[in-house]
Amino acid sequence: IGVAHSDLLADLDPQQRAAVLAPRGPVCVLAGAGTGKTRTITRRIAHLIDSGQVNPSQVLAVTFTARAAGEMRGRLRSLGVAGAGNAVQAQTFHAAAMRQLRYFWPQAFGDRRWQLLDRKMPVIAGAARRAGVGTGNDMLRDLASEIEWAKASLLSPDAYPQAAIDRDRDAPVDPLKVRDVWKNYESLKQADADEWYLDFDDMLIYTTTILRDVPGVAEEFRSRYRCFVVDEYQDVTPVQQGLLDMWLGERDDLTVVGDANQTIYTFTGATPTYLLDFSRRFPHADVVRLERDYRSTPEVVDLANRVIGAARGRIAGTRLKLIGQRPSGPEPTFSEYEDEPSEAIGAVAEIKSLIRRGVEPAEIAVLYRVNAQSENFEQALTEAGIPYQVRGGDAFFQRTEIRQALRQLDATARQLDPTDPANEGEQLLELVEAVLEPLGLTAQEPSGAEARARWESLRALAVLTGDMLTENPELVLGQLISELKARAEARHPPTVQGVTLSSLHAAKGLEWDAVFLAGVTDGSLPISQAINAGPDEIEEERRLFYVGVTRAREHLAISWALARTEGGKASRRRSRFLHGVAPDDGRGAQPAARPASDRAARKQAREQALAELSPADVELFEALKAWRLDQAREQAKPPFVVFSDRTLIAMATARPGTIAELGKI
Ligand code: ATP
Ligand code: MG
Repeated sequence: IGVAHSDLLADLDPQQRAAVLAPRGPVCVLAGAGTGKTRTITRRIAHLIDSGQVNPSQVLAVTFTARAAGEMRGRLRSLGVAGAGNAVQAQTFHAAAMRQLRYFWPQAFGDRRWQLLDRKMPVIAGAARRAGVGTGNDMLRDLASEIEWAKASLLSPDAYPQAAIDRDRDAPVDPLKVRDVWKNYESLKQADADEWYLDFDDMLIYTTTILRDVPGVAEEFRSRYRCFVVDEYQDVTPVQQGLLDMWLGERDDLTVVGDANQTIYTFTGATPTYLLDFSRRFPHADVVRLERDYRSTPEVVDLANRVIGAARGRIAGTRLKLIGQRPSGPEPTFSEYEDEPSEAIGAVAEIKSLIRRGVEPAEIAVLYRVNAQSENFEQALTEAGIPYQVRGGDAFFQRTEIRQALRQLDATARQLDPTDPANEGEQLLELVEAVLEPLGLTAQEPSGAEARARWESLRALAVLTGDMLTENPELVLGQLISELKARAEARHPPTVQGVTLSSLHAAKGLEWDAVFLAGVTDGSLPISQAINAGPDEIEEERRLFYVGVTRAREHLAISWALARTEGGKASRRRSRFLHGVAPDDGRGAQPAARPASDRAARKQAREQALAELSPADVELFEALKAWRLDQAREQAKPPFVVFSDRTLIAMATARPGTIAELGKI
């Protein structure tokens, strides 16, 4: 069922309409967050199809995440233009490249096979060993991310060392060593002449090479695809641009949209240069600027303008002021908490009240800088019985390092005499830290991004142990393990209708009614590595903050905590990005703050959760509590079934009947 032209254009503003109606050829939409860039390109595709200017199967639209690609397909489908929903290729760069590679590979390499190298670490390790470079986990991850950066930047191994020196960010490993490891890595992947291994970057590189060098391939490809669209163009890498250039050839039917102020992936080699230079490259391009913000209330837009108004440096020159179009809504709130667990509990209390007032859980997100920050929120949401899903990374107990840690702890427990008091208090904490250290919980914070993420997760586990010891000082190792396993069990299975927990990076392009931006401290946002690295890195963190703020349609709650752990040292302060942005600038008070007596809030949350249990579960809960104390006193042998109040409540709320089951033990 075709839709009349006018319907496709009816709810667009004049600038958006101009971008949709521009004749086939180069079009660039430069605009801030929430101005309808994604809506505009989707409409443009639909309009080109509907008006018969292009055949749906000739359109290739690329974005950067599978989720964004899926969303674009969904939007196209909902417009009801015949062919727009299923015939248009809307994919990530990698998915598009993989598909083309499979198709054209035989023309280039005949019978030789290839397969995707999805576990590259063992190969990097082999390459490092041959080059006489250390093979510790951190080293391997640093090597891998440097090689990724170099490949995304279209460098050759021999050109890498100089480029690493010229770049403003320091290389974590000696560049000459990286070069040697990289060379070994490439030859190891091709050690078997019949079957090569290709990593993710190779997908793009090989596809580009085949299109460029194998006679007939480019012609065949170009006769098939004629119309190209790129969303989030500010985050394109040189290798992706190279592929795009091969797709285009001499043609120029390319629509790009982007916002330089949302450039948040330069550490992977992405650069806004191609976006900013688009009209230099295509002097006849239609360039459209949008400034009306349709996503957020004027209150949120105002805050976003202030955040990005403070930006400095190269990219900041392209700033556009957003003009809010929606009716007025609540003022953004700024809350300071004593510690991180309290911050999570405070946010979840607000989430609960939003849900009570009719906001769907799926319309709420908690955003943070690093994935390890999800743990406190997972726990608080579980305790509150609110379903959630974790994006841009695994849920806490699903992470490789956490699963490894639990396995190690299990093995250690089996070796120990169960009556050994080492398992209690300070000694238990030391024991746990000793187990976590070889897994990556080093005394010094590591520098590479991956190693750092693992370190943060493991530290969260150590902090959790500390918390559990505060609650039950007689805790022994076996009990700790069963408690951790019980917590993992009590967690909600991932759900699509739940509250979203997401890193800021993974939230790009998305929107929610309510956004909780947590952990806005100096050290987390900007992250400490950026503070150490220099002004450009700090500016990228500021853009990340801007991305976070602009995800909110109505409710925006910004929070930070002074200490990491309950009762811990108040060693942190709120982010420098709030300077001149939060209304209480400089004075340290919290204008819209929640009651900051967080311990009381915790107790209240616990009591409320208890109040929501059925009478039968309360009875069992009490019985188990008494039994738990007995068992702790007796230093019982495994299997230990000793749960904290929090876990017992969590299990009851998350899965009604669980406590009844336990009662049978
Ligand atoms: P980002 O930079 O975050 O990716 P964007 O510029 O791509 O944002 P969209 O996601 O396309 O923005 O649009 C933001 C919101 O505004 C969406 O909910 C969209 O449906 C709505 N919107 C866009 N244009 C209009 C319009 N002309 N009238 C009403 N709503 C609009
Ligand atoms: Mg968008």
